[in-house]
Amino acid sequence: MVGFRLKSINRKIVGLRSIDLTGQVFERLTVLEIAKKTPYYSSELFWLCLCTCGTKKIIRSGSLRSGVVKSCGCLRREATIERNKARAKQ
Ligand SMILES: [Zn+2]
Repeated sequence: MVGFRLKSINRKIVGLRSIDLTGQVFERLTVLEIAKKTPYYSSELFWLCLCTCGTKKIIRSGSLRSGVVKSCGCLRREATIERNKARAKQ
């Protein structure tokens, strides 16, 4: 039964291969390659992305395409620092 399950999941992944994000840039993230560790329970693809800060992160296909994720997390971190700076000036 395990073999059968694997086969059906592989078919799903191949079907989604048409959405190839390799080389695409999403704000700070450049998609390097498809992540090999796609969780077995997910029908979505995961991509290994390189952030402009040098951090590599695995991100869901949907998160990239919808623009929810734009960095490894540094963008949000920087925004928080800027906000705190602005607050400190007041
Ligand atoms: Zn980053």
